[in-house]
Amino acid sequence: MANAPRPLVAGNWKMNGLQRSVAELKRIAHGVHAQAEKVDILVCPPATLIMSFATAARGTAVAIGGQDCHAEPNGAFTGDISAEMLKDVGASAVILGHSERRSLHKESDAEVRAKVLAARRAGLTAIVCVGETRAEREAGQTLAVVGRQLQGSLPEGGAPENLVVAYEPVWAIGSGLTPSAADIAGAHEFIRQTLVTRDGAAAAGIRILYGGSVKPSNAGELLGIRHVDGALVGGASLKAAEFLAIIAACR
Ligand code: PEP
Repeated sequence: MANAPRPLVAGNWKMNGLQRSVAELKRIAHGVHAQAEKVDILVCPPATLIMSFATAARGTAVAIGGQDCHAEPNGAFTGDISAEMLKDVGASAVILGHSERRSLHKESDAEVRAKVLAARRAGLTAIVCVGETRAEREAGQTLAVVGRQLQGSLPEGGAPENLVVAYEPVWAIGSGLTPSAADIAGAHEFIRQTLVTRDGAAAAGIRILYGGSVKPSNAGELLGIRHVDGALVGGASLKAAEFLAIIAACR
């Protein structure tokens, strides 16, 4: 591709990590010097660690993000955190619509869309996750499901600086399974076409990440697939050595 977007490797720590995990973040930050020239790197820890991670990562190539936010900037929403609050403690991005939020917290596309607007309002890049379940794949519904999630979850005006899309087949997350290279390329091409149809030429630069059981042993192959602009990594992002090996696999 002539103007392929700069790759992004993002780590989703989910509900893992304590204050002592700052040492692991420092190992990541200190290990990325050579790759940082060609890859953007993001670590999304639990909300309790964003501030200490952002402080530890200051001056390094590693950016810090959140894993969810509320749609409102503030108010009577016990237990919730706004996009502005994430920004305030040093986040530059936020994962939205992860399949665990969609299934365990029953988040709808409309709620995800409102959160994407909140991220934009606060100056955060929204990393919006889409992907089919195993049953939907077996029913031949993969692209229909992904298309519906994109249309419902993404507000108009998506651009490279405010939006990243992560294609994460639900059945591939944490399972050790991955789709074939052809299936990943097909889904990413479909997402790219959908984005460009919706938002015009600016959408050509929006990064489309693959997520689901990315690990050092398959990262080179997955990151080399056409239309894949990086990876969203869950389990393998928790250990600096594994995450650094995935980053190093970016060409
Ligand atoms: C994820 O939860 O976003 C994810 C991709 O997880 P894993 O890499 O562990 O499959």
